[in-house]
Amino acid sequence: MQRWLKLGLVLGALNWVLGADAPVVKYSPTERLKRERLAAAHSSVVTLSQIRVALPQSKLGWGDFRCNFHAHADDSTHTGGTRPEMLVDALRVDVKAIFLSDHFRPPRDFMDSWRFVTNGVLFVPGSEARGFLVHPMTSVFGQMELPAAELVSAVTADDGLAFLSHIEERPEHSMAGLTGMEIYNRHYDAKRDLPGLLHLALRLTDLREVAELEELIRLYPDEMLAAQVRYADTYLDKWDLETKTRRLVGVGANDCHHNQVMIVKVVDENTVLVGTIVDRDEQMRSVSADFRPSIRRLTKDRKPGELAVRLDFDPYLRALRCVCTHVFAPELTESALRRAVKAGRVYVSHDWMADPTGFVFEVNGGFMGDELKWKSGQTLHAQLPIPGLIRVLCGGREVARALGTEIVHLAAEAGAYRVEAWLEIGGEWRPWIYSNPIYLR
Ligand SMILES: [Zn+2]
Ligand SMILES: [Zn+2]
Repeated sequence: MQRWLKLGLVLGALNWVLGADAPVVKYSPTERLKRERLAAAHSSVVTLSQIRVALPQSKLGWGDFRCNFHAHADDSTHTGGTRPEMLVDALRVDVKAIFLSDHFRPPRDFMDSWRFVTNGVLFVPGSEARGFLVHPMTSVFGQMELPAAELVSAVTADDGLAFLSHIEERPEHSMAGLTGMEIYNRHYDAKRDLPGLLHLALRLTDLREVAELEELIRLYPDEMLAAQVRYADTYLDKWDLETKTRRLVGVGANDCHHNQVMIVKVVDENTVLVGTIVDRDEQMRSVSADFRPSIRRLTKDRKPGELAVRLDFDPYLRALRCVCTHVFAPELTESALRRAVKAGRVYVSHDWMADPTGFVFEVNGGFMGDELKWKSGQTLHAQLPIPGLIRVLCGGREVARALGTEIVHLAAEAGAYRVEAWLEIGGEWRPWIYSNPIYLR
C-alpha cells in the first residue's frame, strides 16, 4: 500500500473519533487477547511504523535516550531474570539506560551492583524500598531505617533521585522532598486484572488452548503483553494535583522481573499446579480433573513434578518496550542523565505501539520540565513523529485537543501544562505518550 494511502486511512480513523456520536470503543484485557483483536492491533502497529516521519533533531542539541525505570534482576526469589539477560535484551530493543530497583535485602547493599556503561547501555544502581524508588549517589545503607523524610533527604543529596512508587498503595503519601513519582506502573495494571489472570490460568489447563496461546505469543508478543495496559488515572490524578504546587518529575515504572513465565506442573494424573516459574508449589493453584477433565490429556505419559506447559509472557525484550522513560540529555553518562531527569526533561511512552523519538513539548524560551513566569502570549507547542490524538492538560483539565502531528496552544492561564498523545490501535484509542509538565507560574 502506498504511504499516502496508509496515512489517509489513519487520518480517516482520526476523523471518525471526532464525530460527536461516535462510540468510544474500549476493550478489556481479556477481549484484547482474542486472536482477531491481537491481529488488528498488530496490523495498526505495522501501519504506524510505515507512516512514521523523521523529525528534525532537537534544536537544543540533546539526544533522546530510551531508558527504563523500576527494573528488577537478580534481586529476589520472585525475580526470574538476571542482569546479563537484561543487557542482551536492552541491546535488542535499543534501550540506552536502565535504572535498577533491587528489592532491599540486607546485608546486601544495592549500590554494590552494575554501575557502568557496557556495550552502549548504562546501568544505574538503586532500590525499591519503603514505597520509593531510590538512586542515591553513594551508599545510604546505614540510613535505610531512618524516618521517611530523613531517608529521602539522604537519597536526594547532590544528584540523588527519589520517586514515590506504586501510587495505588499510597495515594495520600506526602511528596515533600521527592524528585518525582511513577506516573505509570505496569505491575499495577496486572494487579487490577484479576479476571484476566483467572481466564489465563484456566486456558493453561487445556492442551488446545495452550497451543493457541503459544501461537499467539509467537505472532503477537508485544500485543499480548500490553493487553493489560490501561490509562494510569490513579497515578495521573495524584500527579496533576501535586504539580499544582510543586515540580515533580514523572517516570514510567516498568516493574519487569521476567517472572511471568506461566507453568503447569503435574502432581498426578488427575491434578496439576498452575503458577509461574518463581512460585513454590504451595503458592501455585491446584486444579483437578474433576473440575477440568482436559487435565487428563495434559498429564498423560508425564511423571509427577514434570512440567506439562511453559509459556514465557514477559522476557525483558518485551517488558522493556512495554513502557519506557525517554530522557533528553547531552550525552549518555550517569551524571548527564541524573541532571536531565531532575530537570524533568522526560516523557513516558509505550514504545511497543510506535517509536516516539522525535516527540517534543516546548514553550517560547522553555522546554519540558522548565518552570517559567506566566505571562500572556506564551505558546505551547508539541510535535509527534506519527499522527495521533494530542491532548493539552492544565492542572489535569483538558484545555485543547487536536488530531495530527502537531498542536499549538496559547496558554490562557498560569498552571502546570502537560501533553498526552494517543494512537488508534486495533480500533480503539490507547495512551501512547505522557509528557512532563511545563510549569507556568
Ligand atoms: Zn518485585
Ligand atoms: Zn518492583
